[in-house]
Amino acid sequence: MNSSWLGKIGNELLDLVYPPGLYCISCGKITDDSRTYRLCNDCMASVNWITDRRCAKCGRPLSPNDPGETCFRCSVRESSGSPQCFDKGHACAGYGAVEQSVIFALKYGSRPDIGDTLGEILYDRMASEYGEDVLAGMYDLVTPVPTHRDKQAVRGYNHADLMGKSFAKRAGLRYDPEIVKRTRPTLPMKGLGPEARMANIQGAFDIRARKLPLIAGARILLIDDIFTTGATIDEIARILKDAGASRVDFLAFAAAGDMIN
Ligand SMILES: [Zn+2]
Ligand SMILES: [Zn+2]
Repeated sequence: MNSSWLGKIGNELLDLVYPPGLYCISCGKITDDSRTYRLCNDCMASVNWITDRRCAKCGRPLSPNDPGETCFRCSVRESSGSPQCFDKGHACAGYGAVEQSVIFALKYGSRPDIGDTLGEILYDRMASEYGEDVLAGMYDLVTPVPTHRDKQAVRGYNHADLMGKSFAKRAGLRYDPEIVKRTRPTLPMKGLGPEARMANIQGAFDIRARKLPLIAGARILLIDDIFTTGATIDEIARILKDAGASRVDFLAFAAAGDMIN
């Protein structure tokens, strides 16, 4: 009998006493199931909730030093005469350590259960701004940013789909995860220049032909885990608008801060 075997048995016993639902979804510390969003007190206190100034267009947090109404990226697009195709973005929190570890656990840690919790956070954020009744009539369709099928096959699920399903159910909104598909895998945007980003994303998405009747005239809400450069969201918004959507907004759990700080 070696010590690692004993350690394993010990962990299994712990699982019986403390089911996974009782661990903080960010740091893994044992907590209890009365905690809001299944976060321990320390992690809950460290979430960068966006309650202060945010970009009027994309919703990312604005630096206190930025006097404008929109973030650097949105201002540049606006003044160049080619504003983003989405109408308005919403995010719950700035992208910091707690937000990152929750998203990583959902995406890479085989924790699909976290999708439901993030859906609850998305719902609370929207309901607190617009009210439950207004929210229930705001969109004709909610759909997630799709994952490429190869990635989904490895992971077993699309994390944005789990979040979107949970959000739409709470909001009483129509949900369809099959509107947009990824036609090819894309590289991570981080480290790519503006032109490489454009090339990376252009033509990477397509609308499923059988869903076109749902899109004409529809107000659509796109769901994703994190909003960073906005290139992915914007490309999807563009093809949805081309297909006749009257409005495309997005809702993300986390958003990277402004480039100016
Ligand atoms: Zn924690
Ligand atoms: Zn912005």
